[in-house]
Amino acid sequence: MIIECPYCEAKVDGEVKGEHEYCHPEEGPPFKAVLLKCPVCSNALLGGSDWEQTGPDIAEWSELTRLWPQQESHIAWEIPAIARNSLIEARMCYKAKVYNSCVVMAGRTLEGVCQHHSTKDWRLAGGLKELKEGGIIDDRLYEWGEELRKHRNIGAHASEDVITKEDAKDLLDFAQAICDYVFVLNAKFNRFMERKDTD
Ligand SMILES: [Zn+2]
Repeated sequence: MIIECPYCEAKVDGEVKGEHEYCHPEEGPPFKAVLLKCPVCSNALLGGSDWEQTGPDIAEWSELTRLWPQQESHIAWEIPAIARNSLIEARMCYKAKVYNSCVVMAGRTLEGVCQHHSTKDWRLAGGLKELKEGGIIDDRLYEWGEELRKHRNIGAHASEDVITKEDAKDLLDFAQAICDYVFVLNAKFNRFMERKDTD
């Protein structure tokens, strides 16, 4: 069965080692979990498939979505489009092995975070400072953001310096982490505290 192997960074025809179908009437259509072995690198992969209506009288199993290791395309819905779209593009650049562009898009993700919070300074350096002063990011996230900003400048301007694969991956992870903290975990924490207040 076709599944994307994150180790090989390619779609592979995984060897099925086992599968399990279940259907709980209250939880939607039948679901199938499939354990596969990558034929190239032998790593274990877990995929999931939904029983889908594809025509008036036809239903079939959907293409496999990788459940483990978690698919990279999983981006929390709480991240607003202005940051999310750049983050998705940054990942696409990383996959396409264009690391300078990846870091430029990761930097653009942070600009999206700034714009979402209506920072006054249009430059990223000033925007990040405002986010820190406003308590939206803490010292550590600010430091990550600053590194990302500096490397974004290397990627964006013609120079001899190149961004390595390792650096691109780390900087992409920083952009992702900043979005997760600002849009996902902060909101989660606020909801948690609201529940405590009403207790
Ligand atoms: Zn593989």
